[in-house]
Amino acid sequence: MQSKDILIHHGLTKTPCRSEMLRVLTASGTALSEDEIRGSLLVDFDRATIYRTLRTFLDTNIIHRVLLSPTEVKYALTDPGRERSGKPGHAHFHCQFCSRVFCLGRLPVDETNLPDGFEVREIEIVLNGICDRCKG
Ligand SMILES: [Zn+2]
Ligand SMILES: [Zn+2]
Repeated sequence: MQSKDILIHHGLTKTPCRSEMLRVLTASGTALSEDEIRGSLLVDFDRATIYRTLRTFLDTNIIHRVLLSPTEVKYALTDPGRERSGKPGHAHFHCQFCSRVFCLGRLPVDETNLPDGFEVREIEIVLNGICDRCKG
């Protein structure tokens, strides 16, 4: 999907910052941190605008958060087909050499292990390892 179509699909109007950030996220093919996104923008937007745009993208599920550590957050484009069933919960692969991050399919999580009355709201699974490119 082109970035313009992604915005329309989510009921958002096109702004220079939204278009440019989507271009960067689409082109990268991997999850990016806020700093990495900012570093790839061809236009200088102020931090508040970038922050607001990230929030909007998260709220509309255009992107999702990948928590690599308590202090390291990256943002990945959401594959609409993958998240159709509602509950977020696919795993991510993090390459420890090039630090690229990839969305994986759903991992089976055995919710029957939960104590009575507990309910899963979010699942954050990161597999750390080495990607094909670094391994080769
Ligand atoms: Zn790698
Ligand atoms: Zn993902």
